[in-house]
Amino acid sequence: MKYISTRGQAPHLSFEEALLAGLASDGGLYVPESWPRLSDATLRSFVGADYATVAKAVLHPFMAEDVSAERLSQLVDEAYASFEHDEVAPLVALEDGHYLLELFHGPTLAFKDVAMQILARLMDDALTRRGARATIVGATSGDTGGAAIEAFKGRDAVDIFILYPDGRVSDVQRKQMTTLEDANVHTLAVDGTFDDCQALVKAMFNDAGFRKDMSLAGVNSINWARVMAQTVYYFTAAAKLGAPDQPVAFSVPTGNFGDIFAGYVAAQMGLPVAHLMVATNVNDILARTMETGVYQTGDVVATSSPSMDIQVSSNFERLLFEVTGRDGDRVRGYMDALQQSGRFEMAEDELSLMRAMFGAARIDQQQTLEVMREVKTNFGMQIDPHSAIGVGAARQAVLPDHVPIVSLATAHPAKFPKAVYEAYDQAPDTPERVTQMLSRDEHFTPIGNHLADVQALIRDKARR
Ligand SMILES: *Cc1c(COP(=O)(O)O)cnc(C)c1O
Repeated sequence: MKYISTRGQAPHLSFEEALLAGLASDGGLYVPESWPRLSDATLRSFVGADYATVAKAVLHPFMAEDVSAERLSQLVDEAYASFEHDEVAPLVALEDGHYLLELFHGPTLAFKDVAMQILARLMDDALTRRGARATIVGATSGDTGGAAIEAFKGRDAVDIFILYPDGRVSDVQRKQMTTLEDANVHTLAVDGTFDDCQALVKAMFNDAGFRKDMSLAGVNSINWARVMAQTVYYFTAAAKLGAPDQPVAFSVPTGNFGDIFAGYVAAQMGLPVAHLMVATNVNDILARTMETGVYQTGDVVATSSPSMDIQVSSNFERLLFEVTGRDGDRVRGYMDALQQSGRFEMAEDELSLMRAMFGAARIDQQQTLEVMREVKTNFGMQIDPHSAIGVGAARQAVLPDHVPIVSLATAHPAKFPKAVYEAYDQAPDTPERVTQMLSRDEHFTPIGNHLADVQALIRDKARR
C-alpha cells in the first residue's frame, strides 16, 4: 500500500514513511492510494470477536508491506492491554435504537488513547528497526498532550516534549501530563496561550536545521495512523448491532474531523454505514459547510467541550479529496483560497456526495446541559459535555426505518469536573486510578514564550 498526498505534489510514501512524516511535503495529508475492502465473511467473523482481533484484521491491510501480521499482533495486544475495560470500547444501550460507544476507558480517559497507544508503538518499532530515533514535539490545549505522553512514556527510540499553556488546562489534564517519572517525558509550562504554544511548535518544525538535528516528529491528528486506528471501533460497534446484515449510523462529536473521517473510511472498507452525523458545539463551521457548501472560518468561542473549540478542521481536507474524485489540484486550490481569504465554496456535485453520507447538528451550551441531565435521569449515568453533544445530534439524525444509531462517547466525565458540577450539582464519579494520580508529585519546566529558550531546552534534554 502506497500513501499519496491530498494536494497531489508530494512523493508517494510507504506506510512507515507516512507514519514518521506526518504532514506531506506539499502541505497535504497522506491517504492510502486505495481503500482496502473487507469481505462480508470477514465482517461476520467480527461478531463476538474481541477488540484486538478485529483491530488486527482491520489495520493490517494498511501496512502489510511494512509490518508483519505477527508484529502488528504483538503491538495491538500491548496497546489495548492498557485499557481498563475488557471490551476496550463497550457499547451501552440508551433509548430504543440508540447506543453509546464508550471510548474513554484508556489511560487518559478520552478516545485519543485508542489511536495514540498503537501509534506510539508503531513509531517506536519503525524507528528501532531503522536504528533511528525521534523527538516528538507537540502543543496541547488539554487532551492530546496527556494521551501522547502516556503512549510514548518509556519508549527507547523517542523523547517527547509537550508544551501547554500554563494555568489554562484543567487540573486533571495537567496532572495527566506532569505526574509521570519517565526520563523521556518532558512537560513545558509555557507562559502564554495555546496559540502561543502552537506557534512555538510550528516555528520549530519550520526551522530546517533544528528539525533535522533533532529528528522532529509530530503526533497531531493529521497523522494518518491516528485516523486508521480509529476505524476499528466502528467495526466492533457495528458487529454488535448485526453488521454486515444490518446497516448502522453513527453520531460523532467533531473538532478536527479525524474521528468521523475514520467512520467514512470504515464505510469505504465495506462496513454498511448508513449515515454519519457531524455533532458540533457552537463552533459550527462543519455544520454550516454541510448546509451551505461554504467553508468559512470564524472566531473560536470557548465552551464546556474545549476539544471541539476549533474553527479549522484539518482532516476535512481528506474528505474534500474524496468528494472531488481525488483531485489533488482542486484540493490545493481550495486550501490556497482558505489561506488567502478564510473561505472556499464547494461545487454542487461535491456537496451532494458529502450529503449522501453526512448530516450535521449544532448543539449549544444549554442543549448540552439538558442532554447531560436527561441521560442521567433516564439512564442513570453521567456523561461528559463532548459525549452529550454526540447524543443530542444523534436525536436529530434523519435515518431510514430500523437503522440504529451509535453515539460516540469521547471522554469520561471525570475529565471535565466543572461541567459535571454545573449539570449535576455533584462531583464526577472518578475512577480510582485518577484519584491516585491526582495526589502524585508533578514535574514540569516553566518556560517563557521564547523560541530560542524552548529550542535550547530541547537540545539539552533530548537523548539523541
Ligand atoms: C479530540 C476530541 C474530540 C474531537 O475529535 P476530532 O477527531 O478532532 O474530530 C471530541 N471529543 C473529545 C473528548 C476529544 O478529546
